[in-house]
Amino acid sequence: MNYYFHVPFCRSKCGYCAFYSEPHPTPRMIGRYLDRIESDLEEYEPEGPCETINFGGGTPTLLSTAQLERLFRAIEKRLKPEKTTEISIEANPETLDREKVQLIRSFANRISLGVQSFRPKFRDTLGRDCCQKALRQAIELIAEAKFPHWNCDLIYAIPGQKGADFRHDLEEAFATGADHVSCYNLTPEEGARLSDRLIPDEEDSVKMWKKAGELAEAAGFHRYEISNYAKKNGECRHNVNVWRGGLLKGFGPAAASFDGKKRSIQPESIRSWLRRSVPEFDEIPLGDRLNEIFIINLRTTNGWTPKLWKSVPDADSWHRRVEAARKAASKTSDSFFEISSHRIRLTEEGMLFWNSVAESII
Ligand code: SF4
Repeated sequence: MNYYFHVPFCRSKCGYCAFYSEPHPTPRMIGRYLDRIESDLEEYEPEGPCETINFGGGTPTLLSTAQLERLFRAIEKRLKPEKTTEISIEANPETLDREKVQLIRSFANRISLGVQSFRPKFRDTLGRDCCQKALRQAIELIAEAKFPHWNCDLIYAIPGQKGADFRHDLEEAFATGADHVSCYNLTPEEGARLSDRLIPDEEDSVKMWKKAGELAEAAGFHRYEISNYAKKNGECRHNVNVWRGGLLKGFGPAAASFDGKKRSIQPESIRSWLRRSVPEFDEIPLGDRLNEIFIINLRTTNGWTPKLWKSVPDADSWHRRVEAARKAASKTSDSFFEISSHRIRLTEEGMLFWNSVAESII
């Protein structure tokens, strides 16, 4: 089982972000959040081995060291992670100090640092509140704590960002010692504070995506998903499992779950969630669900093999998948796909047109 904990609190709201989170939470609100998580964990009967635990948000590291310790102990008691469990947490540089990083390292084996850009002016454009000193200090603390795996998050195609600026960001990220770099194309999100100003240039986006692939390779990283690059064995297992239709149990407001048949999502408001409002269930016909899973993992460079497809809950035949891919290729372009009896995946060109591929399959 893969577990996700949504920690819905942030210091302030970044201009590009449409994820559910509460800026400036009171200690009382965080206390009530932890009470509810503890109670949900007590009521929960773990299913199978604990493969991955992922803390996202929001900003999980906005919690104090004592609050994080309380959360970790509750999880440890109920989910009993093993030595092989991947435990990953998202972190914001401004919220880290040595004591907190050491505590996180005692529980987690992966940390993901939200850098977005190493240049302050582009973080300002993004409405991301983080000073250069905090960023440098966070990188030092993470390196000092010797996490087996760590990730730097970057955003590209920020208005005003040139190719050379992005190159600088990538080189800085590859030089930190991280074994994973995520590079997300700036996407105007409905409901984000600065959505009307943060419009990426499409041509720049394509050029920067291609440049990221080249520079990653030169630095010993490989692209394994449209937006993700890793050194050998540095791939995020939690994400890989979820993309392949693995089981997911989510805790916290706005947390998604997948039980192999149905997806559900907890209320996107901490108040409703604390009142125990029922989650929203997304029950779609089996064929549509299989198509969704099929499409998501086509974002990865490995794509699908018959063995991987067989592990999807209620999977149909490999033959049906080959047919679906051929049909999509005929509606889009043959050059987008590599289709054989032992693998279906997108070419680099196909990845650039993943949205069109997805539309042609749905
Ligand atoms: S991007 Fe992250 S830190 Fe910024 S508001 Fe969204 S969840 Fe919070």
